[in-house]
Amino acid sequence: MNENTDPADELLLRLRRFHSDYFPLHQQRFQDLVARGQHPKTLFIGCSDSRVVPYLLTGSEPGELFIVRNVGAFIPPYDGYVTDPHEPGGGCPPGARARLQAARQWVGLHGTTAAIEFAVLNLHVERIVVCGHSHCGAIRAAYEGVSQEAVALKAWLKLAREALLPVQSSPEALRRTEQRAVVLQLERLMGYPMVRREVESGRLTLHGWHYVIEDGEVHTFDVRQGNFVPASVASNSGTGPYQPYVEHDGQIFSS
Ligand SMILES: [Zn+2]
Repeated sequence: MNENTDPADELLLRLRRFHSDYFPLHQQRFQDLVARGQHPKTLFIGCSDSRVVPYLLTGSEPGELFIVRNVGAFIPPYDGYVTDPHEPGGGCPPGARARLQAARQWVGLHGTTAAIEFAVLNLHVERIVVCGHSHCGAIRAAYEGVSQEAVALKAWLKLAREALLPVQSSPEALRRTEQRAVVLQLERLMGYPMVRREVESGRLTLHGWHYVIEDGEVHTFDVRQGNFVPASVASNSGTGPYQPYVEHDGQIFSS
């Protein structure tokens, strides 16, 4: 050990452990991924919450998931503007174009948007998963507010406003809102031209998930039933909105 090493630097010790213990066992895989490049089939958009662990949930190996994580697993609108339905003009009254414009707010350059474009246009992913979860601090904060100093966070949480319920935040309301927020993000994904094109051509599927941490189970959104179904009894890993559904007799059912 280097004499300058800080013995209390736990992170440094973990980095060394990865290099000395894990890497030698998986060296070939990493080197293949470098030689052949990455070809992940799934774009995973998840909440930043430390209890959401995409590789564990999906049993994935390095190279299998292209991951974007942010507060709440939210997706900005493709044009970069969010309309606040709770502000004047946001409810789109007829003829109130100016007020509507006033309620539309530029949400800024966003890495999530860039990652979606890259995953679809360059990596040609076959699936996009949007994964919310139980006890999500972002959803709670969307009801309860955040520090005035958190300017970006306050704006970001507006991406969940349409999912909020007109009730006090109770455990049941929060759970429902977490799920409604996932569906809202799926709908927003369809506002991305390249996503819509690929979904409509059948090359891309959308999957809405709600991970219940305390049960160790993901509930997948079933667009036909219009609700979330525990993976243990679900018939598929999620058929996002607008995904054509192939019936057992081969007929295409389009939602
Ligand atoms: Zn969360």
